Amino acid sequence: MKYFAVTKRNIALILVAAIALFVFIVIQINGARFADPAAVVNVGKVAFPANTIQGLLQNVVLLLAIVCACLDPYVGYLVGSLMAIGSMLATAMTAILGRNPFVIPGFAMALLTLIVINVIGYLLRRAQKNSVTDLMTGLMNQRGFLYKLEPLVKRKKGSVVYYLLNNYRAINDEYGHEIGDKILKEIGKKMQNTLGKDGDVFRIGGAVFAFIIKDGIDPVKKTAEVIDNLRNKTEVKIEGQLIEYYAESNAGVLPLNSSIKSKDQAVKYADIALINACSLGMNKYAEYDESMSQEAIEEKKTEQMIINALDKGLFYLMYQPQYFVDGKKIRGFEALIRLKDEEGKVVSPGVFIPVAEKSNLIFDIDEYVLNYVSKEFAEVVKEHEDIRVSVNISANGFCRDNFVDKVKRILDENNFPYKNLEIEITEYSMSKSVETTRRNIDALHELGIYIALDDFGTGYTTLAKLLELKANVLKIDKSIVDTIENTDVNRKFVNTIGDMGHLLNCEVLLEGVETDSQLEYIKGMACDCVQGFVWGRPISFEEAVAKLH
Ligand code: C2E
Ligand code: CA
Ligand code: CA
Repeated sequence: MKYFAVTKRNIALILVAAIALFVFIVIQINGARFADPAAVVNVGKVAFPANTIQGLLQNVVLLLAIVCACLDPYVGYLVGSLMAIGSMLATAMTAILGRNPFVIPGFAMALLTLIVINVIGYLLRRAQKNSVTDLMTGLMNQRGFLYKLEPLVKRKKGSVVYYLLNNYRAINDEYGHEIGDKILKEIGKKMQNTLGKDGDVFRIGGAVFAFIIKDGIDPVKKTAEVIDNLRNKTEVKIEGQLIEYYAESNAGVLPLNSSIKSKDQAVKYADIALINACSLGMNKYAEYDESMSQEAIEEKKTEQMIINALDKGLFYLMYQPQYFVDGKKIRGFEALIRLKDEEGKVVSPGVFIPVAEKSNLIFDIDEYVLNYVSKEFAEVVKEHEDIRVSVNISANGFCRDNFVDKVKRILDENNFPYKNLEIEITEYSMSKSVETTRRNIDALHELGIYIALDDFGTGYTTLAKLLELKANVLKIDKSIVDTIENTDVNRKFVNTIGDMGHLLNCEVLLEGVETDSQLEYIKGMACDCVQGFVWGRPISFEEAVAKLH
């Protein structure tokens, strides 16, 4: 409650206190009359004993004192208590100095009221504290955060930090909620200890926290300190079991300067900064700047579009034919994902794949594509046994532990033969988790699934890495193919890459071949297959099947 602001509650409090004070003064002014046991007060035709009226008026004061305490557990409680004490003192004085024992019940009533006011005050204060406290960590919750934030935004003082524990869900999944809750409590303590007197920690919900950092303290430096501290071991002991947790977090920092107009805006911007920090990788922070806003909004929109498309099945696939250079015979098709938005407009994968990769929705997309393609082509590849259908798998998806099991399950469910599937990966799969990637490559080879190394020539694949990837197919990127017509050196370069592919026992495929003149050069080179607009653009499933007949 704002004590000095003009709020409905404050006006009611002043009104109630003023009435009570007025009644109290009336009692005191008429004290002598009320003290006379024989005195009467005529109300209309009825004569009331004066001390009965005094008792009634005192009860009104005490009732108003309780109302004050109910209106506000701090100032109202204080005003109410003072009224009850005033009433007690007045009755005590009358009893002692006026030797009037009739007022003793009035004294007892005032004492009782004082006790009631204290109980009400205590319960209300506790309820108010609980309403701004996160019961799991004991920190203030989102309500408390917004309450504290508002005056700072007005005064443009201090900074706000939104803080996300990225790997908290993994703890919950692995050890259960009881341990998860304990760890969260420890983390909360660690955060507050690191901030010390320079700031306060709040739990906003789930694994999201917020800090309010005092004016004059460098928020970026403080945030970096918290991130670093949390990366160190956090231990909790439960039923004799010692659990170690190394937090992986991100934070968005927002100094409360003049461009922040409201607490809602502050929250939104801190969140945008956090989203940006997440896109930089684990344990990174980002300070809000205006250019982030539009980017983050667009990204959020695209993310929502992907979730919606997965839900409603708005993704579909086009298939681009791949040909053997020699004889222009069809080798197979590359499946390329497309998305129609709610208005029926086609959205390019160049727009949504990078967003999906950032948000991990790519795992769902990879699974969706694999399922879609193997269902659609299951019968076709049984009739055309040599045809290969290739599917793009993100680097993050390919190096996951359960990746091969998932592929196997999907192909089995759709009755799709392993030997007709080719998986396209990029060299980045190798840089994620070397051990798992290596294991997955071997397991896929074992099943008879082919592996193509996509976009070759755009990265920095070393010969050692190439050997490790054990690809069956080397797909030379369009940007390299584009140079074929430029100079003799370029041509020799492409040819050398092709030779290298052959040396590694790979099939060599040139991507993005657009013109007949490019084809002329390619025919004399170390190249087995081509995929490009010159011989075929991505087409529908029906058109692809028609090409096989
Ligand atoms: P990518 O895997 O390198 O796919 C080849 C891209 O080059 C396709 O673009 C294809 O339409 C285009 N292309 C093929 N031949 C030519 C040509 O002669 N000239 C030109 N200018 N372009 C040609 P698309 O379909 O827009 O896909 C773009 C990228 O999106 C793909 O590059 C791939 O990285 C990603 N992508 C597409 N589908 C999927 C998918 O199902 N899963 C995943 N994870 N990524 C996908
Ligand atoms: Ca590809
Ligand atoms: Ca490619």
